[in-house]
Amino acid sequence: MKVLPNYINGAWVSSKSKESLDVHNPATQEVIAKVPFGSGAAIDVNNAIELAHEAYLEWKDVPTMQRIQPLFKLKTLLENHKEGIATLITNECGKTFGESIGEIQRAIENVEVACGTHVLSQSEFSENVATGIDEFMIRQPIGVSACITPFNFPGMIPFWFLPYAIATGNAFILKTSEKVPMTMQYVFELIDKHIDLPKGLLNMVHGGKESVDALLQHPKVKTISFVGSTAVARYIYSEGTKYGKRVQAQGGAKNPVVIMPDADIEMTTKIITDSVYGCAGQRCLAASIIIPVGDDKGIFQEALVEAAKTRTVGYGMDKSTEMGPVINSDSKVRVERLIEKGIQEGGNLLVDGRNPKVSGFEKGNFIAPSIIEGLPLDGELISTEIFGPVMSLANFKQLDDTIDFINKGLYGNMACIFTRDGLAARKFRSEVMAGNIGINIGVAAPVAQFPFSGWKESFFGDLHGQGRHAIEFFTQTKVVIERWPKNWSRKF
Ligand code: NAD
Repeated sequence: MKVLPNYINGAWVSSKSKESLDVHNPATQEVIAKVPFGSGAAIDVNNAIELAHEAYLEWKDVPTMQRIQPLFKLKTLLENHKEGIATLITNECGKTFGESIGEIQRAIENVEVACGTHVLSQSEFSENVATGIDEFMIRQPIGVSACITPFNFPGMIPFWFLPYAIATGNAFILKTSEKVPMTMQYVFELIDKHIDLPKGLLNMVHGGKESVDALLQHPKVKTISFVGSTAVARYIYSEGTKYGKRVQAQGGAKNPVVIMPDADIEMTTKIITDSVYGCAGQRCLAASIIIPVGDDKGIFQEALVEAAKTRTVGYGMDKSTEMGPVINSDSKVRVERLIEKGIQEGGNLLVDGRNPKVSGFEKGNFIAPSIIEGLPLDGELISTEIFGPVMSLANFKQLDDTIDFINKGLYGNMACIFTRDGLAARKFRSEVMAGNIGINIGVAAPVAQFPFSGWKESFFGDLHGQGRHAIEFFTQTKVVIERWPKNWSRKF
């Protein structure tokens, strides 16, 4: 099996690295590709940066209206190849085909919003700030923009950044996740065949830490967009800023969902179950701590247990599958250990999803839905991101105590509340310290015209991905203060 090539300067080039990693289908363990890895891959990255910089020097002067034209083609291309891309996502990442289609839809949304860059990047003008003096602000591109992505949304996350970066006049380098490099490989093949772009404008490189470090250290890379775990996000932010770059680094999460006693049981159970187990719990917006508030937690607990037990686990391409495997065997072992840890800490395992039998896929990394209740609030598991299909159930008597608990948490990606009470909902959205709030919504994933917010240990930086924040992130502002003295005027 050949090692996947990089896409540099408009051509497919073999990596200089002698090392490679196997890419597995998480449902079967079959090796489906090999990806360049190690220090040799960093040579490819440095090469890509130099060529991207050349492309940037030309592209920055192309009018915005022309820069967005390839994005209209990109939108059609992604729409026309949605099923092919989704099949690749399912086969390398494990999620169900329906989830993969949904993922591509969210990628397309970002391309659509970036098609409006000519409007979104318009700026401010003040006439006569002092007598005869006008002042205005313009936005200019920055240079080479690099993006480092995680495994859980291989087809969507690159599009939180790519369309905005090029529409605003930058060149772009994507470093894929070494666990799921095939989806964007295919997307770049489509781009290469069908969209006429200047060489070096869009590049894709593979590899792990060495490739990332090359991006962080090279002086011609001006912005870094990162999505992944908190430990790596913190490293990317501190290293990237140390080298003078503009950095946005989205990290991990532990998302609470609050159920008020007046919530609609049927709707709440259905939505929460999808939010906890969607993508096998491997979403930064996965609901992970479910908190029925009040004395009568039992009715919600019973409904959630019943829903967990009936969820069909299997290969993502099978139509009957409601939940696929986790990404790899290390991840399966890690999640199962965390369940064990929860029991040791005193938790009560209400639903045990460890080692389910999935006929025909015995080697797959499957874990069925699991529910653990009564974890101590000062224990470790209640604040650990499990990143697997495990629900932790907690309970507080009052909304105030619940908000207090949420706000003491490390992360701040998302928090949701289910209630019919507008006042409770209003208090929640106002007081909870999280970047995305859901009200009677399970996964509060902002649509593309809003920033993908995130607070505390879930985000390092200032400007988030998507929408206007992306336009601001990929441009630098220049303020011009201008005087044209009247006594210079000629008579016309
Ligand atoms: P990860 O941090 O292991 O890897 C992400 C990227 O960083 C990969 O491209 C990887 O090659 C690179 N990397 C890994 N270790 C590195 C190191 N030591 N130095 C430099 N680069 C390194 O994350 P993952 O396991 O691929 O993804 C899951 C994590 O991503 C979860 O924590 C999840 O919550 C988070 N995530 C966050 C968001 C968000 O929007 N906040 C979205 C999706 C995923």
